[in-house]
Amino acid sequence: MANRLDNEYDYLFKIVLIGDSGVGKSNILSRFTRNEFCLESKSTIGVEFATRTLQVEGKTVKAQIWDTAGQERYRAITSAYYRGAVGALLVYDITKRQTFENVLRWLHELRDHADSNIVIMMAGNKSDLNHLRSVADEDGRSLAEKEGLSFLETSALEASNIEKAFQTILSEIYHIISKKALAAQEAAGNLPGQGTAINISESSVDNKKVCLFVPLVASLSLSHRDPSMASLVESGWQTKNNTPAAQEKCITRLLLYHFCVNLPLMMVSYPVFTAMGMRSSFPLPSWKEVSAQILFYFIIEDFVFYWGHRILHSKWLYKNVHSVHHEYATPFGLTSEYAHPDKILFLGFATIVGPALTGPHLITLWLWMVLRVLETVEAHCGYHFPWSLSDFLPLYGGFC
Ligand code: GDP
Ligand code: MG
Repeated sequence: MANRLDNEYDYLFKIVLIGDSGVGKSNILSRFTRNEFCLESKSTIGVEFATRTLQVEGKTVKAQIWDTAGQERYRAITSAYYRGAVGALLVYDITKRQTFENVLRWLHELRDHADSNIVIMMAGNKSDLNHLRSVADEDGRSLAEKEGLSFLETSALEASNIEKAFQTILSEIYHIISKKALAAQEAAGNLPGQGTAINISESSVDNKKVCLFVPLVASLSLSHRDPSMASLVESGWQTKNNTPAAQEKCITRLLLYHFCVNLPLMMVSYPVFTAMGMRSSFPLPSWKEVSAQILFYFIIEDFVFYWGHRILHSKWLYKNVHSVHHEYATPFGLTSEYAHPDKILFLGFATIVGPALTGPHLITLWLWMVLRVLETVEAHCGYHFPWSLSDFLPLYGGFC
């Protein structure tokens, strides 16, 4: 391990661990970051990420490796988990065929939520259990080849190939970044009068001890877009769509959707609710009525949204409608409110269908809205609260 101070590094790369529950992700992480292994099977609670600093081609790279908190059992990993990740280790268990078959679903999830340029390594873990093997090495290799991924069989128990797996991911990320940055430098050199040239010469990189978070996309986009954006450090703070033009487009759409989708929805909700029997007068509803109705709203909302979302992910609808919703992986600043109308409509509809069916008291409706917003904030903020319902309820906050 590098003996430099922990905050002295040239690059910080976020890497996510994904794959079915029980394949050994948490042990791979503890093996790599602390050289520890634990035979007991306990699901990961509360760990967000662990880091390790190491050398990659003479540069000090800090790998920040994110582990799930067990949500993978319910396929309830939020997009915050993938945000900013430049690498992924997709793990399956060589003794459990099903975990290998699910690799494609995980890839789909990655392609949905993570940046499209993310570097992916597939790992067939528990290679020490060769006698129990149900996935041949060759099967793993050919799937990886077909999908364009790197591949290794690993064992967290025997510490075999763990180091190599991360080293491979990190070098691949580093190569892409340096190649693209070089291309950007050339592009800048070819365009006189475009402002400061990008200087990523060896010495400038070496001198840089600042926290440099480099989303892969940032440096990839450098070469094609505005070469005068100059320094690699600045580029580190760019995200996929963060150009002024993208901001403008995003905010225009945001306003458009607010006025043309949200507003009509808000305007029809009141007449619909009153027509369906909503009341705002005394007597107030009993707590039993309130809690039964709210429980019903949560269930029906989840049901409608789940199936709606499944339908949106069908081939045609995904390609023609829903992919637009994934256009902004990380809305930014003022645009953080951004959501595509299909989502607004589905969520809006799912949220009001319960109250519309039961005609609640206004107090119940308010309480429902408050709980609903709390659920959204909790599920999307990227933090794992000890009181999170996701610890108890399968599928809780499972989408987006
Ligand atoms: P996760 O759910 O993917 O995080 O999996 P864990 O890291 O919690 O591991 C699940 C179980 O598999 C635990 O009992 C581990 O001890 C075991 N395990 C993990 N890696 C290996 C490995 O390389 N070899 C063997 N034999 N067991 C492993
Ligand atoms: Mg785990």
